[in-house]
Amino acid sequence: MSIQSTQPNPAQTESSGSAFYAGRGVSKTPMINHAKGIFFWDTEGKRYLDGSSGAVAANIGHGNERVRDAMMEQASRFSYVVRTAFTSESTETLCKMVADLAGPGFDQTFLVSGGSEAIEATLKLARQYAVVSGQPKRSKILARMPGYHGSTMGAAAVTGDPDRDEMFGPMMRIMPKIPAPLSYRLPEGFDVNSYADYCANELERQILAEGEDTVLAFIMEPVGGVATGALVAPDHYYKTVREICDRYGVLLIFDEVMCGAGRTGTFLAAHHWPDALPDLVACAKGLSAGYTPLGAMIAPNRIVDKVVESGGFLHGHTYSGNPLSSAIGVAVLTELVNQDLMRNADRMGVLLRQRLTTLKERTSTIGDVRGMGLLNAVEIVRDKATKEIFPASSQASYRVSAIARDLGLHIYGRRAAGGSSVNGSWQLLRSSSPNKKLTSSWNCLQRR
Ligand code: PMP
Repeated sequence: MSIQSTQPNPAQTESSGSAFYAGRGVSKTPMINHAKGIFFWDTEGKRYLDGSSGAVAANIGHGNERVRDAMMEQASRFSYVVRTAFTSESTETLCKMVADLAGPGFDQTFLVSGGSEAIEATLKLARQYAVVSGQPKRSKILARMPGYHGSTMGAAAVTGDPDRDEMFGPMMRIMPKIPAPLSYRLPEGFDVNSYADYCANELERQILAEGEDTVLAFIMEPVGGVATGALVAPDHYYKTVREICDRYGVLLIFDEVMCGAGRTGTFLAAHHWPDALPDLVACAKGLSAGYTPLGAMIAPNRIVDKVVESGGFLHGHTYSGNPLSSAIGVAVLTELVNQDLMRNADRMGVLLRQRLTTLKERTSTIGDVRGMGLLNAVEIVRDKATKEIFPASSQASYRVSAIARDLGLHIYGRRAAGGSSVNGSWQLLRSSSPNKKLTSSWNCLQRR
């Protein structure tokens, strides 16, 4: 039976979503029949504009024929071999492509089936590296509040969301959090820059409070996703965080599950801050652009080699490095490069934010517009002057999404994770009145 409902449910979050498909019941969720470019159609023939690339994943648009051909070509030869005994040309090609696009400082790619799995891989590789480097006391991963890193237990332990902590905390070891450098609601006496400084320095304070020889890594989304609504920090924040990590031998992990693979205008969002490159990166979503479940950890030789020499990485899944998914990943990244979609994301992002900012001036409910490239958010408030949020009971984000869906526009309305200062902020990638010219390229990186 389905618990999926057309009624918005405030308890729904991205990861839990509506969670169950119908089984023996009857699903009320629109059933999609086919998709092409930025549109998809349900079985009743209704057309939807995919205003947020699904869950910010379908970066190159739907129904790409070159991706389909690559998929069929690989499937016609073979789809699966066990990765511990065999490899495939597509797997090797994708690993190299990802490392090449990630550039200097990144040499190796570990393929998995999605974002949470990629996060788990980074946490475990960091831990194994510390142990084989003679630092077995290092086990704590510092993270940010609010923040989102996925649904599996390791990813949930570093996710900054008090609601999830309350529910699942008794089953795991919740990792320490420092404040994310929010830019819209600032504590008294701060401006955006001084608050970012404060938040970066909180990392050092927390490392010392935990005991510097016990801290393994710091994980953050360089450009925020669902929890902070496309939050971008001032440039100096990234540099300071990198310096603090270096000072205490703490690994820096970037969660680029949403912001990576070209979404912000560069292959990694990290490329916007070249003097603050992370040690490990988790990437997913846009890597396969929704054509298959796929994720990756990207890592340097100095870390991987040490772990491999010690006997190997104690981690993996049946579908790690799956040849069929890899062939799809290769085709998607080829499109990303050949169609110049990263530059397109950069250019269209500027235009989109301009238009959304104009819209903000005209409406009473859009409090903030922020983002980078084509990862952007609109924060809806009840009162722009006070930045008061809508009460959870009003289900504002889900109602806006439902109205948009009725009008044939899919947007990704989320209630932000329960971090105190942004609790109840809403992230939407699009408001009403879609402008065809504009929407044709911002909703996915696809050119038309
Ligand atoms: N990290 C971030 C920043 C994400 O946005 C997501 C998914 N939205 C995840 C991790 C988890 O990825 P997945 O849902 O593929 O497991």
